[in-house]
Amino acid sequence: MQDRQLQRYSRHILLEEIGIEGQQRISAARMLIIGAGGLGSPAALYLASAGVGRLTLVDSDRVDLTNLQRQVLHTTERIGQLKTSSARIALHALNPEVQVAEVARRAGPDELDPLVAEAEVVLDCSDNFATRHALNRACVRHRRPLVSGAAVRFDGQLAIFDRRADDGACYACLFPESDDAQDELCSTMGVFAPLTGIIGCMQAAEALKLAAGRGASLTGQLMIVDALSMQWRALTIGRDPNCPVCGTA
Ligand SMILES: [Zn+2]
Repeated sequence: MQDRQLQRYSRHILLEEIGIEGQQRISAARMLIIGAGGLGSPAALYLASAGVGRLTLVDSDRVDLTNLQRQVLHTTERIGQLKTSSARIALHALNPEVQVAEVARRAGPDELDPLVAEAEVVLDCSDNFATRHALNRACVRHRRPLVSGAAVRFDGQLAIFDRRADDGACYACLFPESDDAQDELCSTMGVFAPLTGIIGCMQAAEALKLAAGRGASLTGQLMIVDALSMQWRALTIGRDPNCPVCGTA
C-alpha cells in the first residue's frame, strides 16, 4: 500500500478488526450494485470512500428531479444524464482510485449471470421484483452473497442471502415469486428520504464486512425497521427445502 492509500484508509487500518490486511481485501474486492437510486446511492458512496477496488453499477434510468430528494449520488445539474454516468462522476470525485464500470441497461437474467459471477459481493438496490428474483437466481447459481435492501414509505428491510452455507436461505425462500403483483405500486409510492440512506448504508456495512472477512454477517436474519417509530425487529429466516430456486441447488 502506498503512503497516500495508508493515509486515505488510515481510520480503517487503525481498527484492529480491519487493519492493513482487511483493507487490502476491501481494495481487491469487486462488487456488483443493482440500482443507482435511493439505496444504491449511499451504498456506492460508502463502498467507494472505503476503497472497494471495483464497483459495477447497473441502472437503466436517467436522473430525474423527483430522484434528488433521496438519491444522493446525483445532482440538480445532472438531471437528464444516465444515472450510471452521474454516479461515476460522484464516485470518482470522492475516490479516483475506485474502478467504476457502468451498465446503463436493465439487465435481464442472461446479462446478470456473468456480472454476478465476476463479483464477490452483490448488492440488491433495485426497485422491482423481477430484477430481485433474477438476481437471486444468479446469486444462488454462483454462490455469491446477496445483500438485499428495500425501503418504501417508512418501512425498511435488510437481509443477506448467502448460499455458500448449505443451510442459508435465498431471497425466494422468503419472498416467493408469486408476490410480484405489488411491483407497479413500489416505484410510485412515497419514501422517507433518510430511510434509503439508513438501509443503503447498512448494505454497504455488511458488504464491507463480507469483503474483509471480518465480523459476523446478518445472514439468517431479516431486519425490519419502521422509521416513523424507529423500532427495529430482527426475524430469523430459514431455508425453505421446497424453494423452487435453491431447493435443488
Ligand atoms: Zn431458496
